Amino acid sequence: MTFDLHCHSNASDGSLSPSDLLYRATSQGVTTLSITDHDTMSAYEEIDDGALHRINLVPGIEFSTRWGKTGIHIVGLNLDLDSERLRESVRLQTAARRERAIRIAENLAKLGIETPLCEVQNLAGGNYIGRPHFARYLVNRGWAKDTKQAFKRYLGAGKAGDVKFLWAPYEQVVGWIHESGGVAVLAHPAKYTLGRTRLGMLFDDFKDAGGDAVEVISGRQTQDLTDQFAKMCEARGLRASLGSDFHHPDQSWADLGRIPGLPKRCKPVWEDW
Ligand code: AMP
Ligand code: MN
Ligand code: MN
Ligand code: MN
Repeated sequence: MTFDLHCHSNASDGSLSPSDLLYRATSQGVTTLSITDHDTMSAYEEIDDGALHRINLVPGIEFSTRWGKTGIHIVGLNLDLDSERLRESVRLQTAARRERAIRIAENLAKLGIETPLCEVQNLAGGNYIGRPHFARYLVNRGWAKDTKQAFKRYLGAGKAGDVKFLWAPYEQVVGWIHESGGVAVLAHPAKYTLGRTRLGMLFDDFKDAGGDAVEVISGRQTQDLTDQFAKMCEARGLRASLGSDFHHPDQSWADLGRIPGLPKRCKPVWEDW
């Protein structure tokens, strides 16, 4: 059994269609997959039956949220696709994302970077706008040499494009997920650049809010880090999840399913599914 419970389709900022994502996952040996697009479930409306052959698909989402002043991500897994609460929460997040895009464009304009939203929207293709699309705009216009530099200069933590106050607070997001029949998983704890003490506080607060699990493995990471997260979960009675956070085929460091299994001490999030 190979689980991959975190990846993105072109319904958010990934490049593969939901069906192509499923075909790729199957060919990489994944047996259980969750597509966890940022703040949208629209991938689940597009999947053709053929792609569901030979793979178990777990309905999921990655919510953008905030823990105090820190932007964090919480994955909802095993959601009820017919849940009215889920639809409502996606509507709220979609409105927040649209408003945020306006603020990001305004903040960039204040730096002298004219950023017509319609151009960013065109790069995004659909209704969805994320910071990676702003990054592409900035690179196209010569404000950064690549995506990495665009985030470092303009979009990453503490920069003009880092607008997070519009996201619902993490306690509310955990509530939405539970009311939608799912389990709440703290995504990629290594990505928040928090020290050990603050990370422990985040785990504590997440558990206190009713959080169920943490991604003990996200993409490619050191065994030391995996062991540290596994112990932190065990100490708090949190379950463990894992995922590649795959976005693009050329993101070779974390292809679908190419992640190690969970350490023995972990209680897998899927145990009672
Ligand atoms: P958003 O959901 O609009 O806030 O955009 C966040 C997404 O941007 C993440 O899920 C990644 O896909 C991407 N991202 C974040 N930081 C970086 C970075 N430093 N370089 C490239 N992509 C990034
Ligand atoms: Mn992303
Ligand atoms: Mn994320
Ligand atoms: Mn992700």
